[in-house]
Amino acid sequence: PTFQSLGLKEQFLQAISDMGFETPSEVQEKTIPILIERETDMVSLAQTGTGKTAAFGFPMLQKINAESRTTQGLILSPTRELCMQITNELIAYGKYVKGLNIVAIYGGASISDQARKIKKGAQIIVATPGRMKDMIGRGMIDISKIEYCVLDEADEMLNMGFYEDITEILSHSPSDKSTWLFSATMPKEVATIARKFMHTPIEISV
Ligand code: AMP
Repeated sequence: PTFQSLGLKEQFLQAISDMGFETPSEVQEKTIPILIERETDMVSLAQTGTGKTAAFGFPMLQKINAESRTTQGLILSPTRELCMQITNELIAYGKYVKGLNIVAIYGGASISDQARKIKKGAQIIVATPGRMKDMIGRGMIDISKIEYCVLDEADEMLNMGFYEDITEILSHSPSDKSTWLFSATMPKEVATIARKFMHTPIEISV
């Protein structure tokens, strides 16, 4: 398979070629065409290092409207490091998308600096649950119009005790969004989250 055959637009194929990626990884091959073509929930069992960031990143980047300043995509991830890593990766994948604004939200850094970046209009927010919940509660972030939500490393987020925060955050999001959950393992807590927040998700395993 080639990246072309997955349904990615030219601007993303160019970015992929700049990054030196030659062929899609298994999780990319299995998820990208489905997420591009359909509005669906998805549960994907995939370890880190499998290329899962690109697997959800490209479909989200291709589907959002970068001409609008509205927040359309939210990615929740367990740690600040992962949050920054995902943000940097998405910025590289979206380098040819005009007007694209991706903002990282995490604890241990200035909340007012982050609020200022959000105010300029971020189509995609990559966040850790604690800080995200805090900023929604303070009225600094509006996710009432998001269309895509990724729960990345869901098992890790639940291990770290973020269940309540995730529940609170998602209660501020529309119920008709698409939710894409990625997890290395599928303990019953993750299955519970999937049941609670998703509608008949497509299941993928790599
Ligand atoms: P991830 O599993 O998303 O953390 O990705 C692991 C690493 O693989 C990242 O550094 C990516 O830049 C890289 N990567 C992702 N997809 C591909 C690909 N198709 N070919 C080569 N490298 C890739």
